[in-house]
Amino acid sequence: MTQPPSSGPTTTRALRGRAVTFRADPFLDDPAHALVHEDDALILIEDGRISRFGPFEALRHTIPDGIPVTTYPDSLLSAGFVDTHVHYPQLPMIAAYGEQLLEWLERYTFPTEAKFADPGHARAVARRFLRELLRAGTTTAAVYCTVHPQSVDAFFDESARLNTRMVAGKVLMDRNAPDDLRDTAQGGYDDSLALIDRWHRRGRQLYAVTPRFAATSTEEQLDLAGSLLRQRDGLFMQTHLAENTAEIAWIRRLFPNRASYLDVYAHAGLVGPRSVLGHAVHVDEDDFCTCHQAGCALAHCPTSNLFLGSGSFRLFDAVDVRRPVRVGLGTDVGAGTSLSQLGSLNEAYKVAQATGRRLHPAQAFWLATAGGARSLYLDDRIGTLAVGMEADLCVLDPKATPLMAQRAETCETIEDLLFILMMLGDDRSVRATYVAGELVHDRDDPAHTHPAVSFR
Ligand SMILES: [Zn+2]
Repeated sequence: MTQPPSSGPTTTRALRGRAVTFRADPFLDDPAHALVHEDDALILIEDGRISRFGPFEALRHTIPDGIPVTTYPDSLLSAGFVDTHVHYPQLPMIAAYGEQLLEWLERYTFPTEAKFADPGHARAVARRFLRELLRAGTTTAAVYCTVHPQSVDAFFDESARLNTRMVAGKVLMDRNAPDDLRDTAQGGYDDSLALIDRWHRRGRQLYAVTPRFAATSTEEQLDLAGSLLRQRDGLFMQTHLAENTAEIAWIRRLFPNRASYLDVYAHAGLVGPRSVLGHAVHVDEDDFCTCHQAGCALAHCPTSNLFLGSGSFRLFDAVDVRRPVRVGLGTDVGAGTSLSQLGSLNEAYKVAQATGRRLHPAQAFWLATAGGARSLYLDDRIGTLAVGMEADLCVLDPKATPLMAQRAETCETIEDLLFILMMLGDDRSVRATYVAGELVHDRDDPAHTHPAVSFR
């Protein structure tokens, strides 16, 4: 069963290497100014947080006696990646052939999720999923579980063991789904409230009220989800919005009295700060204005949108300086084709190109780190390298493959190096991952990672 909350890390560490982070939002500010680049940085970590960050030579005297310096030559130290939309139970069915959204749910997703009635299966997949996330350099994610409460316990149990900062919740689904995957409006409410009281703000775990999408919840269930959000402080809400045109037509038939798909959620009290709406591929200017005013976030899931043929998210319209909407990046596995945010950035760049826009590498890495943290209202804790931030980091290797190494030789600027990473990189480019200052993934020495990561 569940383990007691971690008493917290105590290791002091000193990391040295080239580092990148942000001082501003590169969609609102000049990207070159927003990006912070330290050629030879010290990151000192004490009690799971960054206690010093800056030029190594200027700060080396602050390293406590007896603390060794871990140096990462030819690498880039960054805040860990933030994934704002992903389904852990769908890991076993990643890369399922042939369908678009609604048929894909019926044919592949629902049968896969039905297996999570078995807590042992849930635990095994949760463990594999979190391990894969850390291998990809992702240290925080907003995660859908299944309709089964035990799928949530399994996920948070594993996350608590690793001390990762995760946002997750039980899927609410009381109609238009197979019998063994349906809850009821009241049952879903009761189960969610019990899970909230068991997990929300326990250690680093955070709870998200999670109606799958408007078609699989009755109006009563959506209203009760809105009511759940008001029961405890700091809860999140995650769902899907306007991913696919057939889906949107279905929502219009199911909710003829609502002004738009987004209005279905707004009417139920589900759109506000810490609400994360996945996809939002087919939304209009009114929707963007509503999102801006409400303070909710959109999760841009480019690998998934391309894989399912859903359409192109209008990133630069969403972040328009006149009414910017918070945007994070989502892998959306199993519709997404990679848990690597570098892979997401590769496709995000191409989606932007197809809409005639140019995604600057600083903007791209902002989406994967600080922007993702900001979209979750966690930017006071994660997403940047700065004193006081939780020490969730990844160490990136821009020469991870022979192809990358030869391209990096001709690289003159930090922006160019970031671009190589996002266009050619994947999990092989993640040299190491730290969670709250603990080494949880070491690509080159897997035996020496945190014991909680190993399969037992
Ligand atoms: Zn999704």
